[in-house]
Amino acid sequence: MIPAWNVQSEKAAWASPWGTTIESVGWCGKSGLVLVHKVSGRAKYVPMPCNSWLCPDCSKKRAEEIVKQFGDKTTWMDRVWFARVRGEWLTTDRKRLNKRRQLKGHEYVLVRRYPVFMTSGYPLFNKANGYRRGVWIFASGDLSGKLPPTTGRFVTRRFAIDLLAAEALLLPGVAKTSFSVGWKEKRDPPTGMSWPLGLHGRDASRDAIEALYRFDPHLVLSPEEARDYLADYLVVHRSDNR
Ligand SMILES: [Zn+2]
Repeated sequence: MIPAWNVQSEKAAWASPWGTTIESVGWCGKSGLVLVHKVSGRAKYVPMPCNSWLCPDCSKKRAEEIVKQFGDKTTWMDRVWFARVRGEWLTTDRKRLNKRRQLKGHEYVLVRRYPVFMTSGYPLFNKANGYRRGVWIFASGDLSGKLPPTTGRFVTRRFAIDLLAAEALLLPGVAKTSFSVGWKEKRDPPTGMSWPLGLHGRDASRDAIEALYRFDPHLVLSPEEARDYLADYLVVHRSDNR
């Protein structure tokens, strides 16, 4: 199925919207995407961040992006509502929080940390960091209720940013982060589009589009244009070296 190809040879022949910026932007070296041209059968390897919270390079970049995004979304606010939920965080908790958010018209960023401190992929309990376990919520308004999160408090925006950066996102140890819908970045690839691409369909295609943006933040292609560009290729797979 996969035709003969020679990864990363003749780079100039594969000039693309990525231009020559691919290698110049810090790549952790752990992950990539293989694109095979549908007609010529030649392939191209696109370095991609592995985006793992256990990757020293990618997790730091992700944490920085989250702090910046939170700062951008709260520029107009003096105070931010903050809550900690210790112990388990279940799907029902997440659904409850979202329902509350909708009813009250607030937005939030949530950071869920591993129940045990993680280092190099191995679970390792660290007493000093134990208090940072659980879920951290920073919101535009009070999201407390009878069930978790039951209590919270208002802090200054500046304090919230520091808390988010230095405590909630302390690395390693972050399991997951999420912004509520109103605080999400608008530039995410569109959902629900059908892609005339590859074996892995939409996920790999979205990865490819994300790669376009990540490696050239100044890229002027719209998601639709990027999709058209990528339609010439077959997205073979995402290779992970973790
Ligand atoms: Zn990485």
